[in-house]
Amino acid sequence: MARPVIAIVGRPNVGKSTIFNRIIGDRLAIVEDKPGVTRDRLYGTGEWNGKAFSIIDTGGIELEGEDAIMKSVRMQAELAIEEADVIVFMVDAKAGLTHADDEVAQLLFRSRKPVVLAVNKVDNDNRMDDVYEFYGLGFGAPVPISGSHGLGIGDLLDAAVERLPDPMEPEYDDDVIRVALIGRPNVGKSSLVNSLLGEERVIVSEVAGTTRDAIDTPFERDGQRYVLIDTAGMRKRGKVYETTEKYSVMRAMKAIERADVALVLINGQEGIIEQDKHIAGYAHEAGKAAIFVVNKWDVVEKGDKTMQQFERNIREHFLFMTYAPVVFLSALTKQRLHKLLPVVNHVSNQHAMRIQTHLLNDVVADAVAINPPPTDKGKRLKINYVTQVAVKPPTVVVFVNDPELMHFSYQRYLENKIRAAFDFEGTPIRIYTRRKS
Ligand code: GDP
Ligand code: GDP
Repeated sequence: MARPVIAIVGRPNVGKSTIFNRIIGDRLAIVEDKPGVTRDRLYGTGEWNGKAFSIIDTGGIELEGEDAIMKSVRMQAELAIEEADVIVFMVDAKAGLTHADDEVAQLLFRSRKPVVLAVNKVDNDNRMDDVYEFYGLGFGAPVPISGSHGLGIGDLLDAAVERLPDPMEPEYDDDVIRVALIGRPNVGKSSLVNSLLGEERVIVSEVAGTTRDAIDTPFERDGQRYVLIDTAGMRKRGKVYETTEKYSVMRAMKAIERADVALVLINGQEGIIEQDKHIAGYAHEAGKAAIFVVNKWDVVEKGDKTMQQFERNIREHFLFMTYAPVVFLSALTKQRLHKLLPVVNHVSNQHAMRIQTHLLNDVVADAVAINPPPTDKGKRLKINYVTQVAVKPPTVVVFVNDPELMHFSYQRYLENKIRAAFDFEGTPIRIYTRRKS
């Protein structure tokens, strides 16, 4: 189910990233420890009053030259208008109302998107006087907040969440595999969509408007139904947007949310860069099945070990996703293209697999017998019971005497044993530890 999107907009230094981190911060503290996953966040998820949402900090788009700040603020606002369901427009009580604020206000006003006006840096009651001038922006009563003191954040979320649309219903039957193609610009996403469909010799009509900006392309092959998920939203805006990392991450995130399987495209010709890691990291964190697709394999000069070397390179760069298989192909020449869908079917099955409790407990009991948990300050972890509580992704709860005693390395050991017994290729596994003696 696609989460509605809240975007934070405002000129530099008003405190957007401070607030963004506050909002996603609480959640971060409870997610499991995942080394290697980037903390350099542009996009997060949260929940407030029982409503789940995604949130984007649109700041940090850097442009150069004359009037750069104004241009980048304008671009952020346009991005938010296009992508968000609710916009948090942030201004700065210390700095007062500026020309840039006025410009953003006009853009937002014309968009007719719901806007919540947040006046930041209201660190104490004395500053309340500075809030009144912002009424003039025309977005009703401003919500005073202080990012650095953590004040008013709840009121802000109340106002934003209240204006969110209801979550969208699932759009496809359960047996349809929803596939998102993600990767940085020019890696070959559109080409791969075209080749996959071309190979089918199926005339497909693009189904526009199933959700805002999404273009979904359903097709069928060997009795299996798929839908390719793409978010075309900003594409029409052209290259300036395409080249910002924020743009590709946002596009990827929106597609990932709605997918079962993420195809993480890597440019075989250019190799792996930091941005690839960010994009892959989101698929991992969203709990989706994933496949690395090394594209443009036709132009890679190959010896007899090139593939192994490339795969090793991927493993080194994506330590947190060792479960994801690697497929080498060329979207352009269709070389090796036939290898892709069988892997998609396989990881999709693994992603939805449910293991019977007694089998799971047998495997964990064996693992503990071979390698008992180490003691910690004289106390030893005791595992009482293990059960799989969810699929997509497979989620396992381990009931223990004291969750504090479950260390990351031991949890990793158990995960490896579970994978050795049941496969789970291509899917992350979530393991939670709960107290029960
Ligand atoms: P962004 O550029 O809009 O993302 O702004 P940042 O979050 O990077 O914040 C810009 C500056 O304002 C930083 O030095 C923050 O510490 C400061 N700041 C953020 N929130 C507050 C606040 O509530 N009160 C005060 N006094 N300073 C704040
Ligand atoms: P997107 O931005 O990720 O959707 O990438 P496109 O599908 O638009 O492809 C970007 C460029 O790479 C285009 O010029 C494609 O023709 C080219 N391209 C895509 N796939 C391949 C491939 O497998 N081999 C080669 N040589 N070029 C490719």
